Amino acid sequence: MQQGVRVRFAPSPTGELHIGGVRTALFNWLFARNKGGSFILRVDDTDRQRSSEEYLQSILDSFQWLNLDWDEGPGRGGAYSPYRQAERLNIYREEVERLLAQGKAYTCFCTAEELDADRDKCRRLGQPPRYSGRCRSLTTAEVSAKKEKGLNYVVRAITPDEGETIVDDLIRGKVTFENKVFDDPIIIKSDGLPTYNFASVVDDSKMEITHVIRAEEHLSNTPRQQIIAAQLGYAVPRYAHVPMILAPDHSKLSKRHGATSVQEYREQGILPEALLNYLALLGWSPGEDREIMSINEMVALFSLERVSKNPAIYDLQKLTWLNGHYLRTGKPERITAMTIPFLLKGGIISENQALHERERIGKVVEMVREKVKTLAEVAVASRYFFMDDFEYDQKGVDKHFHRDGAGLLLQQIEDVLEKVNPFSVEEIEKAFIGLSEEIEVPLNKINPATRLAITGRLMGPELFPLLSLLGKDKVIERIKKARKLFITGNI
Ligand code: GLU
Repeated sequence: MQQGVRVRFAPSPTGELHIGGVRTALFNWLFARNKGGSFILRVDDTDRQRSSEEYLQSILDSFQWLNLDWDEGPGRGGAYSPYRQAERLNIYREEVERLLAQGKAYTCFCTAEELDADRDKCRRLGQPPRYSGRCRSLTTAEVSAKKEKGLNYVVRAITPDEGETIVDDLIRGKVTFENKVFDDPIIIKSDGLPTYNFASVVDDSKMEITHVIRAEEHLSNTPRQQIIAAQLGYAVPRYAHVPMILAPDHSKLSKRHGATSVQEYREQGILPEALLNYLALLGWSPGEDREIMSINEMVALFSLERVSKNPAIYDLQKLTWLNGHYLRTGKPERITAMTIPFLLKGGIISENQALHERERIGKVVEMVREKVKTLAEVAVASRYFFMDDFEYDQKGVDKHFHRDGAGLLLQQIEDVLEKVNPFSVEEIEKAFIGLSEEIEVPLNKINPATRLAITGRLMGPELFPLLSLLGKDKVIERIKKARKLFITGNI
């Protein structure tokens, strides 16, 4: 029934969407879009204890924020619904019944102690620890008797004792596993719910998934899934296991290396296009050293052949560098809209200002985004445009205010600015050049003193546009304040 490529991303709603997960999702999405196929979002929520609606919502929000759309899945439906495993239990049940009836699966009553003993025995014999298959031979009557006694049980699929299972991976090539290393996999747990390996296989087949693109850590599950698929009589999809993402010291990426969830990046002021661009480069290379790519370019260039086998190394600097790029080049109106929540959160502007001073906020953002790397930094750098209670850089104060003649200079700056009309960049510039010539003090002394007085800092956006945007009244008021704070009696 299906036509073309069908891929799925199958998050478990047991936590926030992690960057490793998004990278996997992105590769699936790019592959589907490149091939004109379908990208399906399937919720792996059979772990009832650890799954929550809040996490699912947060994962869906992350997808929306990243602008990664799905063709089938939660909120969209589709021809293969439902897309939540918790709502597909009858489908798994049917398949288990079929396997049991065909003698391809069996009920297992072994206790934890018995299983431990099996493993110990294997170890003593120098064999890989493996379940003995003791319950394979139980008769129907024995099974019924044990169930009547109320004994706990699981259902296992039979794994061939001999032979090999070959995973023909699109990234890694053929990976061979000896069947004798595998237990008979549990497909239904003692709580009656399917295991990940079983539910995934059933869904990948029922949903007619053509390519399973997922993290390398699942490579060891794949032969088990192929064995289960064989018992079910399913054809297997193509597999592609994408490389791990490691920290710069090559350890496993974890919290201690900084933000790891999409929500955290978002809160830090990373732009979705920067995160996607960055994640695309973690393990995939479009060739020709290309780094900055729009999502459409990524779609056009993506191929699994160019995904590396080697682990990708997480590099925060590169992400912030890309973010700075997208911050500077993004449409002003959009960057402003994205900065406003940061300004509100920092108490830098009020709701009222956000509503009524949009144009001025836009101008401020436009000015400060040149020199910073995240939206959070844009907000911090915008602070003195909206608030008067900023701190003054102490080194700057020592150098520019605590010296002879500083008060006079500030007075001269104030006087000359008073006369500037209109308070435009050109007029301010003219006035400063005139002042510099008249008092024979170079601009590289006048400008930093002015900047320090009106912003408390020595660095920032270009001075004359900054003055013009702040406006004459504010500028004069702040020069007066600086004189009062630092100079009085010091002229
Ligand atoms: N829920 C699994 C995970 O998040 C899905 C793995 C798979 O793609 O099969 O790792």
